[in-house]
Amino acid sequence: MSKNDDIFSIKLRAYLHDPIDKCIDIPGHVERAKRYAEILHISGVEEAKGPDQIASCMERSLLPKGKIYKEFTEIRHPLSEGKLEAPHVDKNVFFQSVKEIFEDIANDFFQYSYRKKFLYLWRNLIELMCEKFKDKEIGKFIPVLPADTRIPDHSIWEHLKIASAIDALRDEENKQLNQNNSLFLFSIGPVQYFISQARKTHDLFMGSFILTYLTFKAIEIIIEKYGPANIIYPDLHGQPLMDHFLSKKEKIAVKNSSTDYTDQPTIPNRFVAIIPETDKAEIANLATEVEKAVKSEWKVMVNKVLDEFGLKNINSEFIEKQIKDFPEIYWTAIPLRKGEEDVNIDDFSEFFEEKLIKEWKEIYMLSETQGEYPPNIGLLYQLAYSALEKSMGARKNLRNFEQTEEFRKKCHLCGEREGVIEANKGNLKVGKYISSTEGLCIRCFTKRALDRYLTDVFGDKFKNFSFPSTAEVACSDFKERALRVAQDEFNEYVKAFKNILKDKFEQVDVSFLPKIEKDYGKTENLEGIWFFEKNLKEKEFIEQCDFNISQENIKDLEEKLKNLIKKVGKPNPYYAVIMLDGDSMGKWLSGENLPKIEYAYNSETWKKLPYDFKRDITQKLEGKFLTPAIHASISTALRNYAIEFVREIVEEQHLGKLVYSGGDDVLAFVNLRDLFEVIRQLRATFSGHTEYRNGKIEVDWTKNTGFVEKNGRYFLTMGPAATASCGVVIAHYKMPLKLVLDKIREMEKNAKKVDGKDAFGIALMKHSGQIKEFVCKWRLQKDGQWIDTVEELNKLSEYFKKDETPKIKISRTFPYKLHDAFLRNKDKDGTVSITGTIFETELKRLLLRSLEGGGNKRERKKVADELSEMLLALFWHSGIGSNIDKFVNLLEVARIISTTEE
Ligand SMILES: [Zn+2]
Repeated sequence: MSKNDDIFSIKLRAYLHDPIDKCIDIPGHVERAKRYAEILHISGVEEAKGPDQIASCMERSLLPKGKIYKEFTEIRHPLSEGKLEAPHVDKNVFFQSVKEIFEDIANDFFQYSYRKKFLYLWRNLIELMCEKFKDKEIGKFIPVLPADTRIPDHSIWEHLKIASAIDALRDEENKQLNQNNSLFLFSIGPVQYFISQARKTHDLFMGSFILTYLTFKAIEIIIEKYGPANIIYPDLHGQPLMDHFLSKKEKIAVKNSSTDYTDQPTIPNRFVAIIPETDKAEIANLATEVEKAVKSEWKVMVNKVLDEFGLKNINSEFIEKQIKDFPEIYWTAIPLRKGEEDVNIDDFSEFFEEKLIKEWKEIYMLSETQGEYPPNIGLLYQLAYSALEKSMGARKNLRNFEQTEEFRKKCHLCGEREGVIEANKGNLKVGKYISSTEGLCIRCFTKRALDRYLTDVFGDKFKNFSFPSTAEVACSDFKERALRVAQDEFNEYVKAFKNILKDKFEQVDVSFLPKIEKDYGKTENLEGIWFFEKNLKEKEFIEQCDFNISQENIKDLEEKLKNLIKKVGKPNPYYAVIMLDGDSMGKWLSGENLPKIEYAYNSETWKKLPYDFKRDITQKLEGKFLTPAIHASISTALRNYAIEFVREIVEEQHLGKLVYSGGDDVLAFVNLRDLFEVIRQLRATFSGHTEYRNGKIEVDWTKNTGFVEKNGRYFLTMGPAATASCGVVIAHYKMPLKLVLDKIREMEKNAKKVDGKDAFGIALMKHSGQIKEFVCKWRLQKDGQWIDTVEELNKLSEYFKKDETPKIKISRTFPYKLHDAFLRNKDKDGTVSITGTIFETELKRLLLRSLEGGGNKRERKKVADELSEMLLALFWHSGIGSNIDKFVNLLEVARIISTTEE
């Protein structure tokens, strides 16, 4: 057995030390764990006590002495007050089924190495369980079965993951727990700076992909040495790159594999791991190894791309010079052992104020004197993790900036390095990878043409890969309409293009947005810009595809496009970019936002705890604290969000395309038609405020359990106490992408500045250069009732729409008229200084005069009343802050969503 396999034999035992059905019957759990392990010919699972004790420090420390027993009646949400009631289970039937699962696994299992056995169970056991119980009442609870029935606030899966990650040994003779672990944090960057160096959406996507891919290369080193369970954040289970790694490198048959989505960046640019090293030099060696892996992969990527275009004759020193300062790498570690002893609370005093250290000592003491078992290092996890983040923060401040030099020709993408790569060098031709006017540096060109490298790694997934352009996103609702009602005209137009461009057609042949592809199958498509009449010009054909088109051909195309537009209307030239991220994630991760301690317990257990114990514990502890298992739960919730929900909302149910979805971040392009619904669903799902109805996600703000049921499984989310903010930019498809990306960051920041965060900000960047923006809360409270702001905005935009329901319309000039009406009553920031009654009267008067399109007087009056009530609520309560300028901007945004002019 190799040393590596030795490590995995221990991990395997830790992973099997508790049966997955522990909560169903606690008294028999030790015996069942042994029995299940024996089916797999693994013995000694009862020896894995050390890791178990650290992983479950919470339960062990926070129950009073004397055995407290509780049946499985509840599942607690780890991050909120939410809970689920446990289903009825027929124990014997259940245990028999679990036994059968292990017997099935055992068939191939004996020939695997310990390492492969561990990886197999870590990835597939939960899938096999879900499959086996899918028609039973218990089925949907499988992913959230608690590890403990008395403190049921984290699942058995998280508990087993942490237990297998921790290196610890229980010394029974001396009644000691010996552990040897460090927390390790690694990150690569720069993120925003690197990805926003983009001229095309394709550059942006590849920038984001490179960061995900290189971070995963770093993670691979940890996985190879210690396994995927040692990565505490992000949770790797079911991640596309992880599944790819398991099937390609480890030859494991992955159940319910996500390898179909390897083209989606879902790994954040940082990871937190538990590593079984505490010696400073050893940790530094590991970090160096990880760093080398990342840097050498980056070099391989660059060289492969250059090679593909016959550009290898560039001097290697020059290449090195252009790529060397990327990626920046940062790491830090906090050992949990110092010499022969565990670290203690005082060891963290350099990171925290004295008061906090004192509080922690009291908690520790409480646990020591009153707890069921003595506390251990697991109780200090929150301190250790906070110290880890603080120490990383300090490191990042040390960053050096290099001076930029002046060149003959600057790279068109970054503007920093020399743009040495141009069309017609090597075998690089004008087209997809470079336009006739561009010069790119090596780093930016690698970004641009990375799909050539990725085809090698991931196969067909990246063959002829194209990320939809801004024009393609903008006109995709038009295309969807065309495929529905004017398929012949659409095909005629595309065919004409094909006939004219011949072999150059491939330059304009792109994929539809995923939803269209899903609904209409693989139909021939044509790049979005060619559906805007203005672009049918000689100059455009030369620039985009190096083609000299005749006037006669242009006429032909114009006519065919007109036929199409006659049937479906003009395409809207505006599209949206959205950037969403969780609010106060630092506070969540440092334990500050966790619910009160009583919400860790089964509610009946809590009621029955001795009065004195409850009093002491609530005095010392304001909220729950961050244990390794709770930290792992946060990772699980974020993984579920990114992998299970975001893609579905953006790409499967709406006209959108993701650039990135990982951790608590989302970056995506969305067609205007679906914008409001997409951001509303993304926000609501982040906190578990959604439900599946007839296979579709629906927002439901009354749902407070923190778990969302999908495809017969409960998925953990961040829960009702979590919030998220979002920046949106609506831009003309010709607006330089760099400007749009800078603006979106600003809008996201503005949203976070709103009192209590939980807001969104929208900027409309008009083709004229004018920018109209506003920020408001997702929900507003009026007369004690919650109103969903985005839902109201959506309704409002319907009133600006032409030729569709409802039949009474608001005139497109209404926003300007409203603006002019209050010109004299506002200060220089736009805040109006008149009474509510005057404002209301004037608003109603203007609105009534701006209604058009039909209906009798009474009907119009009714619409005006309803609309003005909605508008007043938005004006006074949404966070707009009675600012008339911003309010007019909001109206303009609602208008542009449903119109196609300009
Ligand atoms: Zn560049």
